[in-house]
Amino acid sequence: MSNTRHTKVLIIGSGPAGYTAGVYASRAMLNPILVQGIEPGGQLTTTTEVENWPGDSEVQGPDLMIRMQDHAKAMGTEIIGDIITNLDVSERPFKAQSDSGTLYNCDAVILATGARAKWLGIDSEEKFKGFGVSACATCDGFFYRGQEIVVVGGGNTAVEEALFLTNFASKVTLIHRRDELRAEKILIDRLMKNEKIMPLWFHEIDEVYGTDMPLGVEGVKVKHTKTGEITDVPCKGVFVAIGHAPANELVKDVLETHMGGYVVTQPDSTATSIAGVFAAGDLTDHKYRQAVTSAGMGCMAALEAERFLAGQD
Ligand code: FAD
Ligand code: NAP
Repeated sequence: MSNTRHTKVLIIGSGPAGYTAGVYASRAMLNPILVQGIEPGGQLTTTTEVENWPGDSEVQGPDLMIRMQDHAKAMGTEIIGDIITNLDVSERPFKAQSDSGTLYNCDAVILATGARAKWLGIDSEEKFKGFGVSACATCDGFFYRGQEIVVVGGGNTAVEEALFLTNFASKVTLIHRRDELRAEKILIDRLMKNEKIMPLWFHEIDEVYGTDMPLGVEGVKVKHTKTGEITDVPCKGVFVAIGHAPANELVKDVLETHMGGYVVTQPDSTATSIAGVFAAGDLTDHKYRQAVTSAGMGCMAALEAERFLAGQD
């Protein structure tokens, strides 16, 4: 059923940036509507311990996001489980079409659509996605009890996933294309001390292979990045953790982007190239990509939206 709703501020996305924007916009009496998208709570719902959220020396990612949701709601944000499928920012009020049929008219919009996992882009990865190939250890790790698995990547996500997967797997091979990890030192320390994890430096996945009936992974062919030599790593699961790309689908043709699709904002601001359109969090941030920096930008976006709307009045 289609209906139309008007709101002063529409927040798109329910990660740390979106919920923080909700808290601040609510306290500014703007009665914001927040549309959660396909992943309510955002990326932190795909991890376990978060150790760098100020005020919590350790908190589970999904718990933290429920708390943020409850906080935004308690302050007055209307939270809606839906997906924005189209956004028209050519004139005000801006128009956001949702998957369930609601059309939101808004005077300002805060884009907080975050980032999504990148994939290797090889055919065999696509074939086994959901049948041995995954980008979420917390979602799928449990299926690999007592099995050998591989993790690809060298950043914080890859190292955290490898460590987490040792709770289930008999052996984890961390495949990285260089011999240096870009993860934080504390995580690298834990990785090196873990006897179940075996790093495989200077290698990339060439092919994932397995059975067709039933569909399942039996191993990966890996290529040495210097010699080109192909070797075989038997495994039942492949976890791809090679970074994230900004979820910019709604605005990539209308807003300026850079560094692989991140929305450009003005210096020290969340203002984009269109007045009244603000962007916060991983969608704009190619550098820090942390929960706390995303939350900070969510705050900035709400304060800037408030000032923008006051200026219009
Ligand atoms: P996201 O968390 O990416 O949320 C984006 C939101 O936008 C989602 O709710 C999604 O549903 C919504 N959305 C997208 N498209 C639409 C649409 N069309 N319509 C409506 N909604 C939409 N950071 C830390 O600081 N500490 C950590 O320990 C840490 N651990 C991490 C572990 C993992 C496995 C990963 C992947 C990341 C981790 N990060 C960590 C990074 C952190 O999760 C991100 O920096 C942060 O979540 C970004 O917040 P965000 O609000 O910008 O977007
Ligand atoms: P990232 O830091 O961008 O690292 C991606 C890794 O994948 C890099 O090591 C990269 O190799 C490798 N890679 C990229 N493309 C590849 C390809 N096609 N084939 C093989 N390897 C490839 O991404 P991330 O680890 O997902 O982290 C994203 C952000 O979230 C970061 O800012 C991170 O700090 C944050 N995060 C934080 C925490 C935490 O605070 N505990 C946890 C998770 C994530 P190179 O090194 O050679 O480029």
